[in-house]
Amino acid sequence: MMKPAENLFIQEPSQSDASVRVRKPGETKSGRVICSLNNLLVLLFVFVVILLAAVLFTFLLSKYHFERIAETEKAQLKNNNQPISSDESQDNSEEIISETSHGPTAAELRLSKALIPLWYNLTIKIYVPGFVEIPKEKNLTFDGALTIKFRVDEPTNKIELNSLKLGLPSVLSDYAILEDSLVALHRRQTDDANRTKPKTKTSSEAINDSGEKLPPRGPSGVKVVKMIQNETLEKAMFELSDTLKKDQEYYFQFVYKGTIDTNLAGLYLTQYADKNGAQRYAAVTQMQPNYARRMVPCFDEPEFKAVWRLKIIHPVGSSAVSNAKEILENEETEHLDWIYTTFEESLPMSSYLLALCVSDFGFVEGNTKRGTRVRIWSRKEAINETVYALEGGKKVLEFYEDYYNITFPLSKQDMMAFPDLALGAMENWGLVTYREKYLLYNSKVYAPSQKQAAAVLVAHELAHQWFGNLVTMKWWDDLWLNEGFATLMEYRGTDAISDGAFRMEEYFVYDSQGEAFGRDARATSHPLAFPIENAEDVNEVFDAITYDKGGSVLRMIRSIMGEEYFQKGLTTYLNKYRYSNADHTDLWNTLSEAVPEGLKDWNGSKFNVDEFAKPWTEQMGFPVVYVRRVDKNRIELSQKRFKIDEDAKEQLKDRNSKWGYKWDVPLWYSVNGEEKPMKWLHETTQFVIPENDVVVFNVGSRGFYRVNYEQDMWKQIAAQLMKNHTKITSETRARLLDDAFTLAQAGQLDYETALSLTGYLDKETEYLPWAIALERVKVIQDYFDDEPEADALKDYLLPLITKPFKKIDWEHLDTSYLNDSRFFENLLDAELIDKMCSLRDENCIEKVTELYRDSFVYPCQIRNAQSSQCSVVPVPLRALTYCYGVKYGKEKDFDRMFEFFMKESIQVERDRLMSALACTRDTHAVKKLLVMAANMNSDVVRLQDKPSVFFKLTLTPIGGPIVFEFFLDHWSELYNGLKDQLTILIRFIHVSISGKTQRHIDELEHFLVTNRNTTRNLDAFKQRLEILKTNKNWMDNNFKPLAQWFKAQAEQRRTEEL
Ligand SMILES: [Zn+2]
Repeated sequence: MMKPAENLFIQEPSQSDASVRVRKPGETKSGRVICSLNNLLVLLFVFVVILLAAVLFTFLLSKYHFERIAETEKAQLKNNNQPISSDESQDNSEEIISETSHGPTAAELRLSKALIPLWYNLTIKIYVPGFVEIPKEKNLTFDGALTIKFRVDEPTNKIELNSLKLGLPSVLSDYAILEDSLVALHRRQTDDANRTKPKTKTSSEAINDSGEKLPPRGPSGVKVVKMIQNETLEKAMFELSDTLKKDQEYYFQFVYKGTIDTNLAGLYLTQYADKNGAQRYAAVTQMQPNYARRMVPCFDEPEFKAVWRLKIIHPVGSSAVSNAKEILENEETEHLDWIYTTFEESLPMSSYLLALCVSDFGFVEGNTKRGTRVRIWSRKEAINETVYALEGGKKVLEFYEDYYNITFPLSKQDMMAFPDLALGAMENWGLVTYREKYLLYNSKVYAPSQKQAAAVLVAHELAHQWFGNLVTMKWWDDLWLNEGFATLMEYRGTDAISDGAFRMEEYFVYDSQGEAFGRDARATSHPLAFPIENAEDVNEVFDAITYDKGGSVLRMIRSIMGEEYFQKGLTTYLNKYRYSNADHTDLWNTLSEAVPEGLKDWNGSKFNVDEFAKPWTEQMGFPVVYVRRVDKNRIELSQKRFKIDEDAKEQLKDRNSKWGYKWDVPLWYSVNGEEKPMKWLHETTQFVIPENDVVVFNVGSRGFYRVNYEQDMWKQIAAQLMKNHTKITSETRARLLDDAFTLAQAGQLDYETALSLTGYLDKETEYLPWAIALERVKVIQDYFDDEPEADALKDYLLPLITKPFKKIDWEHLDTSYLNDSRFFENLLDAELIDKMCSLRDENCIEKVTELYRDSFVYPCQIRNAQSSQCSVVPVPLRALTYCYGVKYGKEKDFDRMFEFFMKESIQVERDRLMSALACTRDTHAVKKLLVMAANMNSDVVRLQDKPSVFFKLTLTPIGGPIVFEFFLDHWSELYNGLKDQLTILIRFIHVSISGKTQRHIDELEHFLVTNRNTTRNLDAFKQRLEILKTNKNWMDNNFKPLAQWFKAQAEQRRTEEL
C-alpha cells in the first residue's frame, strides 16, 4: 500500500514529518487494554476497595500495596485467552500462554515453520446489509468454511494459525484433518487399521459440494483434542491426537464465523449515499499488514505464500470480485436471496494480498495488448469518471511488462474506487483498491495536480504487482524495499500514463526526494532497515522514510549503475524469486551481478551494491558534503551528517552508528556547466578546479545528500545564475536553492547567501526551481505567521513574484489547465497565485473574491445543486477561491459552504469545500468543525478524512493553537476510539501538534507526563516534540535578525526607486 494514505502526502505536505513507529520491539502493548471504560471502572472499584482498606487498617497499607493490587487486576483483565479443551476437568493453566506485564515477545507472535500452507479453499457467505432481508443476528457478519492444505516440514502435534476476533467451533469434532484419498487408503491399510471414518461430512465439505469438484480425500486419523484461541497473540492453537508426519500433506477443515468490521480493517463495511440519498453498502477487505487473520484463520505472514481458491456467497443484487478471475458468476443457491460466485485459483501469494469485495458497483472494461482484462469499478454514479484509470491502467501495465521484461502474471486486473479506505490505495494482487479520489478522474473538477495524483497511485500500485506481489519481502523489515521500489517506479509509470507530460523524473526532486530530506534530517528519524519484530509495528513504518528515502536511495543506485544495467539486474531478480520471497541482500546481490565491468567504488574495486547500500540503509540520516578551496587550483570535499537541528538528541540506541554516520558519496558534478564523470567521496577528497571555474556538485539531484560551499563559491554560483542560469540544469538549480535555504534554516549558512540565490528568479521560467523556492520561502513565512514583522517579509517577497505573476493568463485559466503538456506551467500559475494572495496582495485578493462572487455564489443559487455541478470557478483556483470566500466572508458564507460540503458527492470537490470551511476566522466555527471531525460516532466526516480536517484547521494562524488545545483536551476520547486503527490515530498526532514557543513545548511535555500510559509508545509524539523545539530554536536565532534584514532590504529598494 499506501503511505499515510498511500499518498496522503500529496494533499497534505506538512505530513512529510508523518512518521511513526509506535511500539518498539518487546515493549508492552498494555495501552490497548488499560483504557477501556470497563477497565477504568474495575480500577476505580479496586481503588475504592483499597481506600476502605486503608481506612480500616489506619494507614497500614501503603501506596505500594495499592499499585501492586491494581497491577494484578490489570494483568487479569488483559488475559483474553479462551481455552476450549476436550477434557473439561483438565487444568489449562499450563497451556494458556500467559501474558507478562511486558506483553508477548516477538517470537511468541510469530508462527513456527513446522507447517507450510500450500492451498486455501475458502467459502464465505457475507451478510452485507442493504440488498436482501438479513436476520438481525446475522447482519454485518460472515460465515466461513475453510480447508487449508499444508505440508509438514517438521513433525509436530500442533497446528497454529493466526486468527483474531473470529468465532471458531467449540466442539472439537467439528474440526477434520484429512489426507488425499490414496494416501489415506494406504495409511488405513498399513499404518493404523483401528481408526474409524467420521460418520457425517463436515459442514465445510457440505458447502463445497455446491458445484465444485475437489480432489477426493479421506480422514487422516489425526484429531484435534484441544483448541485455544489467544486473542493477545492473535492465534488459534490446535493440539492434535497424533504427530503430523514430516513431508506429508494434510487438509485441515472447519467452519467459523466473524463480523464485518467498521474500522477499515480486515473485511469491513463501506457506505455511501446514492443520487436519491439512499444509503448503499459494500463489504471490502484491507489485509495489509496483518488483518487477513480477522477474516480467515490463516498463516498470516508474508513468507507463507499459498494458492487461494474462493467461493463467495453474496446477496442478490450484488456482485463479488476477488484476486482471481471469476469462473461461475451470480449462480443461484438454494435460497432465493443468495447467489454465489466462484473464482479461479490464485497464484501463490502472501495473505496480506488477499482481497474480495461485495458491492453493487459498476465497471468499465478493456484489454491490454497482451490480452490482460482490465476493469475499473466504482459506484454507478461515478462510472463516467473511470475512463482515465482504464486507459492509464492499460498503458502502465504494458509499460511495466516491457520495463521488467516479464509478462503480467495474471489474466485480469481489477481496480476499485471506494468511498472509504484507511490509506490511499492497496496493491492486492489482481484487485487493487483505491480511495475514490485517487482512481477516478473528472476533467471538470480535478486540478492538474489531482489528475497527476490519480496517475501516480495507479502507477504505484501496479508497479507492486511485480515488485511486492510476484516477488515479496520475507518479513516486514524489508517493507521499505517494497515501498521504496514502488515509489521509484511510480515516476516512470506515471510518465508512461501521461506520455511524459507530467515530467515525473524532474518532479521526483521536488516530491519524494524533498519529503525524504525533510524527514531524515530529524534526530527522531530511523534507518530504512531496522528490526521489525512483529507485524503490528509495521503499521507505523508507512512513512516518508520507507517510501521516499527508499525511492531516493534506489534512484541513486540506479544513477550509479546506469539505467540499462539496473533494469537488467531487476529482471533477473524478479525471475529468480518469482512466486517466492526475497530480502534486500538478495536484491543487492542480483544487482551487483549486473554491474558493468568498468564501474568502480571509491577504493578502485568493482562496485558492489550491497557494500554501498549498507550505510545508506542501516543508519539513519544523510550527509552534507562541504566544499572548500584549498588553494588557487584545488578544492577539498569532506562530509558530516546533516541535521536540521544540531541540538536535537537521538534516542540512546541511535547515538552511535556502526558506520559513524559516514557514507560513500557518489559525486556528480559540473564545471562551468559541463558535466564530468562521477567520482567518489569516502572521507575527504581533493579535486583540481581552478579558482575562476564554477563548480556545482550533485547535478541532476541524483544523490541523496546536500552540499554546502564556502562563501565565495556560493557567490560564484549566484553570479552564474544571474548571468546565465540555463548553464545549470533545472533539477540542479532546484537542488542549489533547496540546499542553500535548508542549510540556512539549520544555521549552517547565513540567510543572506541563501536569499541571494533567488536574485535570478525573475528570469526563471521552469516550475521546479520556482516550486522549491516558493516552498522554502514558505518555511520562513510560516515562522513569521501573523507577527507584525511579516509586513517586512511581504515587502521583500512581493517584487520577486510580481513579474511572473503578471504574466499569468487569467482569461484562459478555465481551459488551459486541461492541457497536460503545460503541466508544469499550470502548476506554477496556481502556486504563484496562491503565494501572491497569501502575501495579501490586493490585486490578487480582489480577483479571487470576485471569482467567488461571480463564479460560485451567483451560479450556485440553484436549489439542491452540488458545487461540482454549479461552480464555474476555474478548477485550479477553486480551493483558493472557496477559501477566500469563507475567510473574508460573513457567517452566511460559512453556512453556505457547509451546506455544499454536506451535499457534495465527488471527493476532490468535497475536500476543497472542507478546506474552505477551515479557512474561517471565527473561533466558534473552528471549534464546531473540530467537534464534528472528532466525533467517532458520526460519519459526516469519514473516518479516513477526520485527521485531515484537523490538519486543514492548523493552516490558519487562529486554527493552529485551537487544534493543539483541543487535541490535548480530547486525547483520551481519540485514543479510545482509534487504538485499534493506529494509522489514523498517528495521523491525528502529527497534524494536531504544532507551535513555535516555549509554552507549546511545556504544554506538550506536561501532557506527555500526565498521559504517559497512552502516549509513551507512540513515537509520533517524540517527533512532534522535536519539531516544536526546532521551531523555538529557529525563532530564537533567526526571527529578529531576519526581520531586520528584510526591513533594511525593503528600505534600500525604496531609496533606490526614489
Ligand atoms: Zn505501495
